Amino acid sequence: MEILDKLRLKMSQVPVDAFMVSNMQNWRFISGFTGDAGILLITQDEAIIFTDSRYTEQAEQEAPGYTVIKTLVEKDVVKETIDKLGIGAIAFEKDYVTYSRWEKLGQTFKDQTLVGVSGWVEELRAVKSEEEAGYIAKAQSIADEAFSRLLPMVKAGVSEAELALELEFTMRKLGSDGIAFPFIVVSGARSSLPHGVPTSKRLEPGDFVTFDFGARFKGYCSDMTRTVVVGHASDKHKQIYDVVLRAQLAALEVIGPGVPAKQVDLAGRKVIEEAGYGDYFGHGIGHGVGLNVHERPSVGKTSEDVLQPGMVITVEPGIYIPGFGGVRIEDLVLVTEDGKKNLTSSPKELIVV
Ligand code: ZN
Ligand code: ZN
Repeated sequence: MEILDKLRLKMSQVPVDAFMVSNMQNWRFISGFTGDAGILLITQDEAIIFTDSRYTEQAEQEAPGYTVIKTLVEKDVVKETIDKLGIGAIAFEKDYVTYSRWEKLGQTFKDQTLVGVSGWVEELRAVKSEEEAGYIAKAQSIADEAFSRLLPMVKAGVSEAELALELEFTMRKLGSDGIAFPFIVVSGARSSLPHGVPTSKRLEPGDFVTFDFGARFKGYCSDMTRTVVVGHASDKHKQIYDVVLRAQLAALEVIGPGVPAKQVDLAGRKVIEEAGYGDYFGHGIGHGVGLNVHERPSVGKTSEDVLQPGMVITVEPGIYIPGFGGVRIEDLVLVTEDGKKNLTSSPKELIVV
């Protein structure tokens, strides 16, 4: 069933006459319109994009089949159109409305009933079409290639920030639209910061170095993490790395259609807990990836989501020891009809640089 049909079915179940989409990634997913200002309005018979003069031509090109209406500063075209269409009840995306916007909506749509809804589009976005999965796989292949080109540069003396910049530069040369998120490159004791920002700190012998990064292709993100060690791997380095790798492989093993997402987390977490490092793994094991780098489904121990073919998730256990450093290994995985496909191709054995 087409996306619009699915949303119209939800509208008829509430029931409401219209659905107003105000999140730009959501309207992009529904219509293809990539502009960052506007409103998308769906009724049972109409599909309208309201946007200002900067984007009207673009919206007409990107969203064939949609009526594009130019918004004006001096009059409220959205309200006028809604009145003209005789709309009584409007569903809106309550997760993206500030308090002041809510007040404004109430004043503008005095004659309508406003119904706040949550997750309608996000739920659809969680399951990727073949085309979307292809874009994500392409973004991931760019990231893998960039990492293999970066490795010869990773050595004592080079700074975290230099490596992050080089990764980004290489990805852009390989066709990435941009970065999926600000890269994490952390070394030595700083590698125990799961989301640390790259600094001018230079790599030193004995440092773990964690790289967490992603490319973007046609708007779709990739996400991967690799950890290497500089100079020489001690027994402690090897032991921690081995636990994280075994946890990651155990979590990957259970992925398949129909599997509750929390089972993926629990399978990896069990390995880390049994090795005695449970207190050093504080985050969920993964998340969905798409137009946003973090989206549905959630893949933590309290997730209620069930894996379905077309979902793309990360598997990223880690151990972070304050004062010493940390290890995280993250792959990007597509759930398929008969199991899964790991989209990440970079090697996972501990690399000493
Ligand atoms: Zn990541
Ligand atoms: Zn991630």
